[in-house]
Amino acid sequence: MHRSGAAMAWNVFKFCTALRALGSIMILLVLGVVGVTYYSVVLTNYGPALYDGGFNSLTAAVILFFFHCFLIMLLWSYFSVVLTDPGSVPPNWRPAMDEERGEADPLNGSEFNGSQPDPLNQRIRYCRKCNQLKPPRCHHCSVCERCVLKMDHHCVWVVNCVGAQNYKYFLLFLFYTFLETSLVTMALLPHFIAFFSDGEIPGTPGTLATTFLAFVLNLAFALSVLGFLIMHISLVSANTTTIEVL
Ligand SMILES: [Zn+2]
Ligand SMILES: [Zn+2]
Repeated sequence: MHRSGAAMAWNVFKFCTALRALGSIMILLVLGVVGVTYYSVVLTNYGPALYDGGFNSLTAAVILFFFHCFLIMLLWSYFSVVLTDPGSVPPNWRPAMDEERGEADPLNGSEFNGSQPDPLNQRIRYCRKCNQLKPPRCHHCSVCERCVLKMDHHCVWVVNCVGAQNYKYFLLFLFYTFLETSLVTMALLPHFIAFFSDGEIPGTPGTLATTFLAFVLNLAFALSVLGFLIMHISLVSANTTTIEVL
């Protein structure tokens, strides 16, 4: 029994190492999708359309304006999730109430445990890997190898845990990704349809392939991010997290 436990721990460790190695690749992948989309929308389709004149120029200007607004907000919220500490347990954290004696603990000095102890989370938990007490709603992340306050999940896309302090940025990231990918999907839809028509299609095979790829990628991201967005809005309104629901 001990041996199988050790083997499982080793496998989990291997899995987590793989996830950590995946880290920088995921950031490059996100920037790659952004790059392909930018090339397709701005450089090959709507940038040149600015000089068409008339209604085409106006449409292109409106699309390019919102494309850049959403892109700036998307990149800002993305790197905020990546770079913000999700929330660590304050050193020497102690629960607000001493369970055995039922009186206030004088060592309590944390802003995270709040003035009203949650009756659902009265059981005090201990993390054996970090050798510290776990505040309510705190979970140990095996990828980050630390305890994270109000941990939602470890997100491979942002190479970070999503927890108490970067959850807001995570929601904003989902929101702006949905706006941006929906805009790109709608903007590239006429070009995508033209792809299958019999008529003459302007553009080199390279730009056509990029437009095709950008359309498919953005449609896929828009649909999956919409699912995540709906899920997280319902989690927030129920004041719960992905981990707690699981
Ligand atoms: Zn821990
Ligand atoms: Zn993590």
